[in-house]
Amino acid sequence: MIDRETIDKILDATNIVDVVSEFVTLKKSGVNYKGLCPFHDDKTPSFMVSPTKQICKCFSCGEGGTAINFLMKHEQITYPEALRWLAKKYNIEIQEKELTDEEKQEQSDRESMFIVNEWAMNYFKDVLNHDPDGVAIGRQYFRSRGIRDDIVEKFNLGFSLSKRDALDLAAKKAGYKEEFLIKTGLCIKGEKGVYDRYAGRVIFPWFNVSGKVVAFGGRLLDARTKGVQQKYVNSPDSEIYHKERELYGLYQGKKAIAKEDCVYMVEGYTDVIAMHQCGLENVVANSGTALSKHQIKLLRRFTPNIILLYDGDEAGIHAAMRGTDMLLAEGMKVKVLLLPDGDDPDSFSRKHTAAEFKAYIEEHAEDFIEFKTKLTVENVSDPVKRSEAIGGIVKSISVVDDQLLRDEYLTQLSRRLGIKEETLLNSMNGMISHDREEKEKEYNREQAQEAIQREKEGKPMAIGLHTTNEQISQLEEMLMKAIVRDGEKVMYENVATADGGTINLSVAQFIDYDLGSDGLSFSNPVYNKILQEVVAHIGEEDFKSEEYLMRHPDYEVSSVAANLAVDPYQLSKSFQMKEREGGLRQHVEHLVLDFRYFCLKEKVEELKAALKNCKDDYMSIMQELARVDSIYKALAKKLGR
Ligand SMILES: [Zn+2]
Repeated sequence: MIDRETIDKILDATNIVDVVSEFVTLKKSGVNYKGLCPFHDDKTPSFMVSPTKQICKCFSCGEGGTAINFLMKHEQITYPEALRWLAKKYNIEIQEKELTDEEKQEQSDRESMFIVNEWAMNYFKDVLNHDPDGVAIGRQYFRSRGIRDDIVEKFNLGFSLSKRDALDLAAKKAGYKEEFLIKTGLCIKGEKGVYDRYAGRVIFPWFNVSGKVVAFGGRLLDARTKGVQQKYVNSPDSEIYHKERELYGLYQGKKAIAKEDCVYMVEGYTDVIAMHQCGLENVVANSGTALSKHQIKLLRRFTPNIILLYDGDEAGIHAAMRGTDMLLAEGMKVKVLLLPDGDDPDSFSRKHTAAEFKAYIEEHAEDFIEFKTKLTVENVSDPVKRSEAIGGIVKSISVVDDQLLRDEYLTQLSRRLGIKEETLLNSMNGMISHDREEKEKEYNREQAQEAIQREKEGKPMAIGLHTTNEQISQLEEMLMKAIVRDGEKVMYENVATADGGTINLSVAQFIDYDLGSDGLSFSNPVYNKILQEVVAHIGEEDFKSEEYLMRHPDYEVSSVAANLAVDPYQLSKSFQMKEREGGLRQHVEHLVLDFRYFCLKEKVEELKAALKNCKDDYMSIMQELARVDSIYKALAKKLGR
């Protein structure tokens, strides 16, 4: 476990704006920052980050919390891992104790896979730089392709020896289990035993957006590409790698993408690497297929502007046309640039400086609709083919979400083709309403299926039944909110004590005292633990409940606190004022009364049920029921129920 002192150090250094910016482009909005929410399908920025409160919150889906919560959720990591992530970012040393065998066992599969991948990346690099074969073959290959040493280092390129099980043996010698060598795809289990997937290839590691090694690409050297073997071999999909979710170069390029507010899409690793070497860093590649929805959303978090950069041959044109409607539908602004004379981004960037390349792109990149029109309609004289092609373009325009942009495209198209705008508009509206109908049909189908499923499982159709139990847990949460946010605040001043003195009664103390007098407690054990801790610390100088709890080393406590400390209204001053119009005191008093009322109501129900089933304890249950019932009725009267 990481000690409290180190946690404090890490959290003091942490700035949530920095942390979220690693994954989302944020723009200043008043005192806060805003960006697209990474947790739901967000089209308008609804993710708020507050630097003063050091919390973030999505106004649409409700996800959020502290920097720690954000990392845990976004990166699917544990609390200690999130702390380590931050420690690494802010260069804070954590004294890690040696893991016992038991603790090693407990590390999850995912963690083990990341660890073995990280080790393998370093192993491949080490071979490239120090092994005689690695230097002679691998290093020589990169040099012959004109890739500078600093770029080799930046992309952590490596080399896998041609001996069929070199990595396998080295990994096992270093203590890594075969299970994870297979699961990550580094090795393959065949009839003749375990062998390395990338033997004899140069290695391109794939990083996910946060910098973890999720996969590898291995390329055969030029001299050996003839024959049956594949030129490129990539990691198979695994628990930590989904091909359609990752983009090569995003990790190395994300800062530049946000800064330039534009991303270049290219086809291969070597295009990405060559462009970096030339000085253009806002570039990504995927693995040769059309962009998936996941990849588009990932990019959309950093910029809405994408320029497709391909070579001008048939394949390049095909690549540029593929999947673009999905880009448009996701709200991306798409431009296309086909490079001249058989150049690809790799070769073009070698012949030009970054400034020249950029200027060329600015001058020649075409809006996608314009590009598609030129390519598919102009110079086509066959009326049937021409009309089909126009339909294809109108279809592309129809998926654009932004109505103003859609209209603009249509006007341009009408001018370019000399077709009445009205005609195009009618055709487009037909497509839009057809789409909408299809979506509605699909939605209805899903609803119907869900209803059938609920009936099968015997669940009630109506949702939102308010049972006593639900009321209790809702009130518990509201009380807990008061304890987390305002626990240390004074509710009553100068309350007389039994020994003749006076004390100030804080919110937490009041709640603790009031529930205690009825013998009530929270049904959630963590809530009771939090209340007791806050009460125990009240009176300490500068004690602030929220701050103390959010930095608690017990993750259960800190995550409950963080979840309660933030809600959509936390960031809005006007709501806070409204909530407290009646004052904190009335608010808490009312909550406690309500809570007691429902707890007693539940107890009365329980006792009545017990009475029905009891055999010999009749009298004592009756007495208890009478006692609880009288308190309950008195409370009900007080509350006007
Ligand atoms: Zn959201």
